[in-house]
Amino acid sequence: MLAPRRDRAEVARFARRTCAYREVSGPEIDVLEPALAGRFDAGLFFEREAHLDPRRALRDLAGEVHRLGGEIQLGCAAPKRVDLDCTGMAAPLADLRPVRGEMAILRCPEVAMRRTLRLLHPRTPIYLVPRGDGHYMLGATMVESDHSGPPSLRALMELMGAAYALSPAFAEAEVVEIGAGLRPAFPNNLPRLERREETLFLNGLYRHGFLLAPAMAQAAADQLMEQRDENTREFRTA
Ligand SMILES: Cc1cc2nc3c(=O)[nH]c(=O)nc-3n(C[C@H](O)[C@H](O)[C@H](O)COP(=O)(O)OP(=O)(O)OC[C@H]3O[C@@H](n4cnc5c(N)ncnc54)[C@H](O)[C@@H]3O)c2cc1C
Repeated sequence: MLAPRRDRAEVARFARRTCAYREVSGPEIDVLEPALAGRFDAGLFFEREAHLDPRRALRDLAGEVHRLGGEIQLGCAAPKRVDLDCTGMAAPLADLRPVRGEMAILRCPEVAMRRTLRLLHPRTPIYLVPRGDGHYMLGATMVESDHSGPPSLRALMELMGAAYALSPAFAEAEVVEIGAGLRPAFPNNLPRLERREETLFLNGLYRHGFLLAPAMAQAAADQLMEQRDENTREFRTA
């Protein structure tokens, strides 16, 4: 977690709201990520934090579902009644709201960073995730909005500006992909399981769907298995 020198107070502000970090000074930052050498003089280091590639995670999970005998049907609507509904913004849950998020994928083999970096900024915190093979994902929530469609010029300028602030070598990066999506969130921004008649809804994963999925899936499975003891039919999900 880093902030440009002029926004250094943001690091202290963020530190008060989090845990499991170690404060790091400029020389330590330079050792952890030599590509940042000389550019930052304070940050927070979350040593146990990790990251994954969501597309690869989905491929691996789909492979595991097949291996366990599950069937995945793509490109068709789910049956009208399902046991577990994970349809994001399409779910009929009144207090669900869409929050737009923007991203860009850069290819820049000249930059070698290993860790997810979050660049604090009073208006727009931006994160950069190394995806291996010289690829980096940049992501942000620019302004809370439910507008769908491609990223705006302003969003892209903020994303690219943040990459450049982390390392000027990103100026030569290839922009491989840009995108935007709507993330389902409840008013308190926390996910929840909600039973409505015969269906269990798992929703509100907001900006941490991949991070929260294992815990939420376990909680949903526990609830469904309890029911299964009473009723031995197969489950259908959407
Ligand atoms: C730019 C961006 C960056 C992000 N970065 C991260 C990150 O770094 N880490 C992280 O943890 N999370 C991240 N997220 C958030 C994550 O993507 C979401 O939290 C997650 O996708 C929400 O999962 P979901 O399954 O609830 O909803 P969705 O991903 O919206 O999935 C719902 C699915 O249901 C399908 N569907 C809808 N109606 C039907 C129907 N009737 N029948 C069948 N299928 C239906 C839809 O087509 C869709 O595929 C990011 C999101 C965005 C937009």
